[in-house]
Amino acid sequence: MQIEVLRLGHRLPRDERISTHVALVARAFGASAMAYTGQHDAGLEESIRRICGNWGGEFPITYEKSVTAVIKKHKRDGFTIVHLTMYGLALPDVLPAIKSRGKILVVVGSEQVPREIYELADFNVSITNQPHSEVAALAMTLDRLMEGKELEPHDFGGRIRIVPSARGKDVVETR
Ligand code: SAM
Repeated sequence: MQIEVLRLGHRLPRDERISTHVALVARAFGASAMAYTGQHDAGLEESIRRICGNWGGEFPITYEKSVTAVIKKHKRDGFTIVHLTMYGLALPDVLPAIKSRGKILVVVGSEQVPREIYELADFNVSITNQPHSEVAALAMTLDRLMEGKELEPHDFGGRIRIVPSARGKDVVETR
């Protein structure tokens, strides 16, 4: 399964931290790339590049001007569009249908999400029907899509690696 993430409506400086967290969760939990719309943010891109430089893995992060263009491009490339919104259908009810698709674009919002996104999405999916956070919604969705496999030991091939430890910090630097 190939999973990518689209973060909508990035606002500077307000979303600097949360969009970074969306990207870090996407990378750590099994997505292979992230695109974002809203305001271009070289700092966001640089901090994710720095994380990949130290902790390994390829995780391209790209800025897209048009939300509809990037969604339509993913559709043409065979992606199923899964928009996370508290107004959507409960994840367990649609998970089997989503998992039967090979390529998935998970879309998370920031401010008010335009109506058009609800219509372009193949699935509008809720993680509870209560308002919370794009980071939590994304983490839970990726965990269910990955069936918990992201929690298994996984070598990102990074310069820095953590050896799981019951107490303290065991960190290995390989170069
Ligand atoms: N009132 C906003 C709206 O239009 O949905 C809430 C914005 S919320 C802070 C930012 C993003 O978090 C939403 O666009 C959605 O992707 C995600 N989110 C928040 N609560 C969610 C929930 N219960 N289920 C799924 N996604 C959620």
